Amino acid sequence: MSKRNTPVENDGPAGGEPHGHAETLPFDADTLREECGVFGIFGQSDAGALTALGLHALQHRGQEAAGIVSFDGERFHTERHMGLVGDYFTKQSIIDRLSGHASIGHVRYSTTGETILRNVQPLFADLDAGGFAVCHNGNLTNALTLRDQLVRDGAIFQSTSDTEVIIHLVARSRKRTFVEKFVEALWQLEGAYSLVALTNKKLIGARDPLGIRPLVLGDLDGSPVFASETCALDIIGAKFVRDVENGEVVVVNKDGIHSHFPFPRVPPRPCIFEYIYFARPDSVVGGRNVYEVRKRMGRQLAKENPIKADVVVPVPDSGVPAAIGYAQKSGIPYEMGIIRNHYVGRTFIEPTQQIRKLGVKLKHSANSAQVKGQRVVLIDDSLVRGTTSIKIVQMMYEAGAKEVHLLVASPPITHSDYYGIDTPDADKLLAANHSLEEMRKIVGADSLQFLSIDGIYKAMGHKKGRNAAVPQFTDHCFTGDYPTGLTDRTGKAQPKQLSLLQEAG
Ligand code: AMP
Repeated sequence: MSKRNTPVENDGPAGGEPHGHAETLPFDADTLREECGVFGIFGQSDAGALTALGLHALQHRGQEAAGIVSFDGERFHTERHMGLVGDYFTKQSIIDRLSGHASIGHVRYSTTGETILRNVQPLFADLDAGGFAVCHNGNLTNALTLRDQLVRDGAIFQSTSDTEVIIHLVARSRKRTFVEKFVEALWQLEGAYSLVALTNKKLIGARDPLGIRPLVLGDLDGSPVFASETCALDIIGAKFVRDVENGEVVVVNKDGIHSHFPFPRVPPRPCIFEYIYFARPDSVVGGRNVYEVRKRMGRQLAKENPIKADVVVPVPDSGVPAAIGYAQKSGIPYEMGIIRNHYVGRTFIEPTQQIRKLGVKLKHSANSAQVKGQRVVLIDDSLVRGTTSIKIVQMMYEAGAKEVHLLVASPPITHSDYYGIDTPDADKLLAANHSLEEMRKIVGADSLQFLSIDGIYKAMGHKKGRNAAVPQFTDHCFTGDYPTGLTDRTGKAQPKQLSLLQEAG
């Protein structure tokens, strides 16, 4: 191990026990898991601190753990912790340890791999080619298959994260240059990845051939920046330059930025759920302001489902922009009929059965004065298991609502996700197992309606709906149209993504 590449690891207490770990609330465990956020910067003396700020802005993409790796010209420095960015990366001692001009970071809510510190990214390895740190947003659909092959060939895995497969593939490549090794590794992957990687000479940003997960390129006083979303550029005062394109590998070194397109070009298939739920409303994803799109989804919902009601109430925060759009289009007044407690932290003491029964009230409370005696249009962005809706509809009735009409600003989720959103298996998806009327009865509302799939595309600016839309988004949750092979699920060895690329080439 050369001195140059030796990482200074500060991974918390010995034995891999997580720092500051707290059990999530049992009823939190019932909600979905979120995906991840990535960030990278090259050529700033306080790169580690800037990365911490960027991750802070990406916190909504993952609250389980955060990590940063920096490189100071000689050594890599690693800090990885369970918990929120602000729990650790505001401490001067930690930021001081992340010295150097280049840095990458990750916020995580595990989509694959267990909740243990050694799965927390960035992952680091000292390769023949030099030190290599990588962080990943997305989920590979052939990671288990690749891992089995690698283990049979003698690879020793340190984590259960699918990202480690990428490190092993890079390590094994016999190509000459680091970028060639990296690209050869990417060729073997199937599924979704937006990667930010750091070597002792380069910062790399890469998006899978379909561009399923987002990644943007920014500029801070001449220093290139990669981030999952533009809100992470805004927080450090960086300019948005452009989206990293689907299938693009952007390599940054001291000589500048070099763009590579190693795969045959295919039309992008960005994930529609970024617009519906994941991305922060102030971010611009694929040229669209997320807040505007969500408002348009609400307007479209009003066009498709006009209802006689007295008040439009959002399920905060996720339903707010759509509810504003619905209210504007329908002319029904918008009111905050539900108040969200923002301080329900992950460190909340595990509740007793008695407290557990209070369930959702910890997070949401009815604002009775606004709903009593009213016909309420209740708006949320999505319905998955129905857990939230059941509780909130009941809460509205208990607060005295005369009628409750639940409108969902996205179509019924009938299929699981394997690209990093990690929706539950189909047997737990309400819409996969019940008719509209059955769902209405389950959530207990006077009426229940969803935005149509064409309505979603119209809100995205595609007037003719889904089938005429370019790009056609990754919308398998609603359509079952998975844009890549699902090798780990189907056991079919030839990844569809790869064969699709080879055909295109
Ligand atoms: P459910 O309660 O299972 O029907 O889930 C729907 C609620 O979870 C809505 O309020 C959404 O805003 C929210 N939601 C949707 N997708 C996700 C996700 N991947 N992770 C966490 N929450 C989500």
